[in-house]
Amino acid sequence: MGDTDIVRVSCATENCGTFPMDKALNKRLRRSGNTFTCPAGHKQSYNTTDPKKELREEISRLKQKLSRTEGRLENYRDNLSDMWDDLREERELREAIEKSILEDVDGAVEILEGRWKWACECGNKTTATYDTEREAWGKYDAHRERLHDDAGAIEA
Ligand SMILES: [Zn+2]
Ligand SMILES: [Zn+2]
Repeated sequence: MGDTDIVRVSCATENCGTFPMDKALNKRLRRSGNTFTCPAGHKQSYNTTDPKKELREEISRLKQKLSRTEGRLENYRDNLSDMWDDLREERELREAIEKSILEDVDGAVEILEGRWKWACECGNKTTATYDTEREAWGKYDAHRERLHDDAGAIEA
């Protein structure tokens, strides 16, 4: 390796001095702007910044990001639509079950595990769901007190 293959590089840090570097490597570093280290450990790179190039790269990154986001949004929409259908079916099913349970009930009844409703023989029933049997009975009793006389007949 002759002297022509080696260049002396000045460290970017003040008063650090110069150090030898392979010429071809130096050329690549100048082109790429990649980080390199002087023998004393100072990290540095050649400034290859071209504002227009950076802007173009940024725009292209943003465009890619946008198209990825659009793709995800599309998937999300499809999934959401499926989910919505499932939810609607589930809700309709649950409502049908609740309705059939409440039809023959007079008092509180457990609709789902730990979920209580009440219905009255007069045809009134709760739209709310309660966490405890006691609460559901309480609301049922309140309804009886409000709308029924002692004999249990509904007041006009
Ligand atoms: Zn240095
Ligand atoms: Zn009633």
